[in-house]
Amino acid sequence: MTMWYLTEDRAAILSSVREFTEKEVAPAALETDRSGEFPLTLFRRAGELGLLGITVPEEYGGLGADQTTQALVLEEIARSLPVLTVAMGAHSLLAGGLIDMLGTPAQKKEYLLPAASGEIILACGSTEAVGGDNQAEFSTRAVPDGDAWVLNGGKVLISNIGVADVYVVVAVTADHVDPVTKAGLSAFLVPAGTPGLGVGRPERKLGWHGSATGSLSFTGCRVPKENLLGPLGGCLQAMFVSATAEFLSCGPVSLGIAEGAYAMALAHSLQREQQGQSLFDRFQVTRHKLVRMYGEIESLRALVYSTYAERDRGGLCLAEGRLLKVKGAEVAEYVAREAIQLYGGLGTVVDTGVERYWRDAKVMAIGGASVEALMDVIAALVKRQHT
Ligand SMILES: Cc1cc2nc3c(=O)[nH]c(=O)nc-3n(C[C@H](O)[C@H](O)[C@H](O)COP(=O)(O)OP(=O)(O)OC[C@H]3O[C@@H](n4cnc5c(N)ncnc54)[C@H](O)[C@@H]3O)c2cc1C
Repeated sequence: MTMWYLTEDRAAILSSVREFTEKEVAPAALETDRSGEFPLTLFRRAGELGLLGITVPEEYGGLGADQTTQALVLEEIARSLPVLTVAMGAHSLLAGGLIDMLGTPAQKKEYLLPAASGEIILACGSTEAVGGDNQAEFSTRAVPDGDAWVLNGGKVLISNIGVADVYVVVAVTADHVDPVTKAGLSAFLVPAGTPGLGVGRPERKLGWHGSATGSLSFTGCRVPKENLLGPLGGCLQAMFVSATAEFLSCGPVSLGIAEGAYAMALAHSLQREQQGQSLFDRFQVTRHKLVRMYGEIESLRALVYSTYAERDRGGLCLAEGRLLKVKGAEVAEYVAREAIQLYGGLGTVVDTGVERYWRDAKVMAIGGASVEALMDVIAALVKRQHT
């Protein structure tokens, strides 16, 4: 397949990422999945290589590269260790994206600059026990008190907990949150170690082992007034845009997951013999499965890179970005499931390293937003485009 989007600049970055993934990421993949420990060394290395600030302007320590470059990097890393891209996404796209859009120049200098190099780690705390999408019912509140904001409440299922140095936290700052516009929500910068901030233990999850997902609690947690990020009561628009960037990123991440699983399945089918022939040569059903997997991967690749090209032309891609998450999760899950099947019994053995792709793909359909919730948003956006 021609990679029409591979310009000279992008190819140069991709080649250094490939070296990083082959020499450092891939060898650590199985152990990260097994231990469930946050891949801190790899994360810091990604920072050193500039991979945590690909689209961040150079004045804030980033590479100042385009969105397509970001997609290429995520795809490449996800082929061997998807969870590293998840940690990168929560850091650079969710939390970093909000600071980039809402931050004052001083806040960007203080937080974006060290985040782009991996010196500090960011997390974004929005979801509450009432549900990811029910912001109107959020109960984490921030009230002004002298020269501070005081936060009370809690968040659940937040990525990068424990390892994060700074949490971007969404809290209610009005009497009530408008159920339609969601006005009344504000974002705050809460450094780790702030008295009153409680950090839970990472949950044991089906997939994304090592992404350190868990709860946060706020009990009289005081942050200085200047830690308000963006307009009082009006962070939702930026959240919508940063969420779009995160949904977009699920396209290349899912593509990487599918490619990783497919590569293993193809190699196994060519190598394992049954009655004197490889599985590939012996069974038509094996060949056909592989062709369907290949077809789904190439269709997803076309969708991912045409959407990212549109982003690079300045398009917001609000609907298409969400579609990438929906379609990406579908393709990754399908390909990874078939890869397990083609492996037979060995496919069910954790140490083989193929079933983890399916577990990671499954979480893709929920983490950040469930695909069902996104479908309704896509439908509303599509309707708006045509009326
Ligand atoms: C591994 C992981 C990492 C995460 N990291 C973060 C993070 O860093 N920061 C953060 O703020 N949050 C994070 N989340 C939370 C995530 O955004 C939510 O889990 C997600 O939005 C779904 O919300 P919920 O879990 O409350 O499910 P619920 O809202 O309870 O939904 C349950 C199910 O109901 C259905 N459903 C819900 N709403 C709708 C709807 N509107 N339309 C149709 N069907 C619907 C879907 O089938 C959905 O799967 C993470 C979650 C996971 C699993």
